[in-house]
Amino acid sequence: MRFEKKYAVAVVGGGIAGVAAALAAARAGSKTVLIEKTVLLGGLATAGLIYVYLPLCDGNGMQVSFGIAEELLKLSLKYGPGDIPAAWSREKNAEENKRYRCVFSPAAFMLALDEAVAEAEVDVWLDTLVSDVETGAAGRLTSVIVENESGRGKISADCFIDASGSAVVARRAGAAVNFGMNARALWALEYNFQAQPDYIIGEHIKMVHTGVLPDEKHAEYCGINGRLVSKFVLDSRRALLERYNKNYASGAAGRKTLFPLKLPVMPQLRKIACIEGRQTLRDGQDAMHFADSVGLVADWRKPGYVWEIPYGTLLPQKLKGLLAAGRCTAAAGDAWEITRVIPAAALTGEVAGVAAALAVEQGVTPDRLEVTGLQNELRKRNFPLHLEDVGLKCRRMGNS
Ligand SMILES: Cc1cc2nc3c(=O)[nH]c(=O)nc-3n(C[C@H](O)[C@H](O)[C@H](O)COP(=O)(O)OP(=O)(O)OC[C@H]3O[C@@H](n4cnc5c(N)ncnc54)[C@H](O)[C@@H]3O)c2cc1C
Repeated sequence: MRFEKKYAVAVVGGGIAGVAAALAAARAGSKTVLIEKTVLLGGLATAGLIYVYLPLCDGNGMQVSFGIAEELLKLSLKYGPGDIPAAWSREKNAEENKRYRCVFSPAAFMLALDEAVAEAEVDVWLDTLVSDVETGAAGRLTSVIVENESGRGKISADCFIDASGSAVVARRAGAAVNFGMNARALWALEYNFQAQPDYIIGEHIKMVHTGVLPDEKHAEYCGINGRLVSKFVLDSRRALLERYNKNYASGAAGRKTLFPLKLPVMPQLRKIACIEGRQTLRDGQDAMHFADSVGLVADWRKPGYVWEIPYGTLLPQKLKGLLAAGRCTAAAGDAWEITRVIPAAALTGEVAGVAAALAVEQGVTPDRLEVTGLQNELRKRNFPLHLEDVGLKCRRMGNS
């Protein structure tokens, strides 16, 4: 090894979940490192050019997600032109774009994220890939092996958070993971002289979407090995090229009125891999009470559906010393649609950061944490944990 470092908490992946986790752990007093393989923070939300911060409210005027999820939504607007709909709290049965959400400039959001992690004194390692892991006694994760221009090194920590978007830490450690259905998609920023107001984020600057929805026909795009990811990315870019060729050939636009400005620098894979958790959030578990709930997230697709997030979905089944955050948390089917988006990634990231700091303080692994102690910490941050905390009713009791 060319270098070795030791931290209290090591977060792998600088996407929204990883940033939230690192902020929470560092603010709780843990010496925290955030390891990111690209040179940008925000992950798919920024480098992947996703520009809609989905709702923090239930669509009936009730805010359900708070804490860093709300802080990051506001940060996404700090240097950009978006707005939160003023009347979101009066809306009933609201369309998505009338809820507590916003459109943001990915570049502006990246700058604001840099500022936030610097203020929290997170040690940020960019351009550093986690390529392997080491485990010790009783299946506990002890270090991650990283590669950057300084060579191959080792980062040890008392507690790790897998916020890689693809459960790479869990997979490298041999933990069980589940893979999800994908879809080819490409969101790119373009100059479009004829852009309709709907998607405009600046005059004539438009986010263009090309793609297909996930279904069996597109199973060819489901996978994360090098060959499949290359095919996914190249096919997606080809679809964009076809758009320009078609427009230019028909005379609908020319190369000076319609052209690409920015392409995503990470594959826009919808679902990759999540841990097999001590608990898995499943279809139909909205409005379900979980005794170990650590927060609430709203269904971004339809108003009136709110989910409690059980702590067990952040814990891998056997591996110790690791928490999952963001799209790596254990969810299946419809529930994965809820946990994979920006607000839920921020929320589970914060929970993972708070849990990691608490576990380090108590000298235990996160699976041994007293859930009520974690819930008390979250309540201090004004987190509603259960549906009744925001005046909503649960339909069923979960089995945690
Ligand atoms: C086409 C599409 C449209 C979407 N639209 C929306 C939308 O409108 N609104 C919304 O809220 N959500 C949307 N989403 C979902 C959402 O953007 C992401 O799922 C969410 O941002 C995931 O955050 P994350 O932090 O869990 O993971 P990621 O954003 O994937 O972050 C993971 C980070 O880990 C890093 N990493 C990975 N492996 C390693 C490694 N080995 N070493 C070091 N670093 C590593 C990556 O570079 C990345 O920065 C969309 C997704 C897709 C695909």
